[in-house]
Amino acid sequence: MSAVGSKLRMLEGGKVAFLCPGCRQMHHVTVDGSRGWTFNGDGDRPTFSPSLLVKGTVPITDDEHATIMAGGKIEAKRLVCHSFVTDGRIRFLTDSSHKLAGQTVDLPDLSANQA
Ligand SMILES: [Zn+2]
Repeated sequence: MSAVGSKLRMLEGGKVAFLCPGCRQMHHVTVDGSRGWTFNGDGDRPTFSPSLLVKGTVPITDDEHATIMAGGKIEAKRLVCHSFVTDGRIRFLTDSSHKLAGQTVDLPDLSANQA
């Protein structure tokens, strides 16, 4: 993987990834045109169009992992993340399931967040 500006990572297959501050995980966007998204090519102030809709399950927390390891049951939480990325900022639509729904925040700088 290589960096593209401060906000994106370049992936195989014409994809880039950004760190979603709502989900606290990377979201991938196909930007080679094959999936219908457009990208302005700017890794510092990326703009993707149209909106991004990610559905899945919320990764379990350490506490939940401990519960499972102790024989308990955890119900997977459904994740919906619906956003517009414009000029390096991400606007979450209100149908997002996380706490940033309805808010607009800066995309995190990956170099500062890379473990
Ligand atoms: Zn997200």
